[in-house]
Amino acid sequence: MEVITRDFFLFLSKSSILNRLARNWGSSVATGKIIGGKDFESSIPIIRKLNEQGLTVTVDHLGEFVDSREVARERTQECIRAIQLIAQEKLESHVSLKMTSLGLDIDLDLVRENMTGILDTAEQHQVMVTIDMEDEVRCQKTLDLFKEFRQRYEYVSTVLQAYLYRTEQDLEELNPYKPFFRLVKGAYKESPQVAFPDKKDVDENYKKLIKKQLLSGHYTAIATHDDKMIDFTKEIAREHQIGKDRFEFQMLYGMRNKTQLELVKEGYNMRVYLPYGDDWYGYFMRRLAERPANIAFAFKGMTKK
Ligand SMILES: Cc1cc2nc3c(=O)[nH]c(=O)nc-3n(C[C@H](O)[C@H](O)[C@H](O)COP(=O)(O)OP(=O)(O)OC[C@H]3O[C@@H](n4cnc5c(N)ncnc54)[C@H](O)[C@@H]3O)c2cc1C
Repeated sequence: MEVITRDFFLFLSKSSILNRLARNWGSSVATGKIIGGKDFESSIPIIRKLNEQGLTVTVDHLGEFVDSREVARERTQECIRAIQLIAQEKLESHVSLKMTSLGLDIDLDLVRENMTGILDTAEQHQVMVTIDMEDEVRCQKTLDLFKEFRQRYEYVSTVLQAYLYRTEQDLEELNPYKPFFRLVKGAYKESPQVAFPDKKDVDENYKKLIKKQLLSGHYTAIATHDDKMIDFTKEIAREHQIGKDRFEFQMLYGMRNKTQLELVKEGYNMRVYLPYGDDWYGYFMRRLAERPANIAFAFKGMTKK
């Protein structure tokens, strides 16, 4: 039953008709619950409030799978503007982005050009840019581009997904690039040819990756809402005397708020992933796929406009 629900929401997440409808409906239904607002400016008060509570942020302008050069350029300008505003407003925030929104599916030279504009600005303002990891078919391209950028830029990081068989090897191969990785379990629907079908195998692999990356000495983000993974990270850090300044936890905005604040109180770095923009539909469906318990909260939010 759980698998059917997950597959159902992942299927819905790809519907362009529903996506269009949701965009017309507006982002206000999700604002302040799972997203920051319709644009970066309207998200600033939320970022400030999170910062005041000791939480750092990474913002993400919603939107993926762009198939027009013009839209990819607009998205690029939006990322650049977000970085400039983060610096200008002195916000404690990184920027996360999806390369399909910058033209990854259109032309590699286009995405290179767009990323260069973003990373030049990020370097100038010392704002970290994290390249989110999308589905498996785009993983190799994403990592190849990450390697290219990493040779030229300090303020760039990416994500590794524990559900993919390939990830442990990727982590080892990328070690010479001194990467700042965000480690996640993985959010897309993947075939058993490329990803562990059983959750317990994903969890085991996730632990293995956390340990390896922490012991490598490179700064690490552990992005999960799972207490078991959080406890495991704390344990490894204690056992190997890895300072709390060498890693951070990350969670999505609107999820486990109390736990986020408890981690801050315990002295851990805690970063909140805050999406914003009109294109909230696919993101929202993936969150429902992960945790159908979010449905109750979603319906409550939608009827309370
Ligand atoms: C900051 C951040 C960035 C991400 N970036 C990416 C990315 O670039 N690419 C990608 O593929 N995926 C990304 N993800 C999603 C990730 O891959 C997982 O799909 C998602 O985090 C769900 O897995 P989990 O580790 O939180 O726990 P799960 O395995 O989903 O859940 C384990 C347990 O944790 C608890 N739990 C989970 N969620 C909640 C909740 N909302 N409230 C209360 N308890 C809960 C429950 O006890 C649950 O049984 C990101 C996630 C985060 C937090």
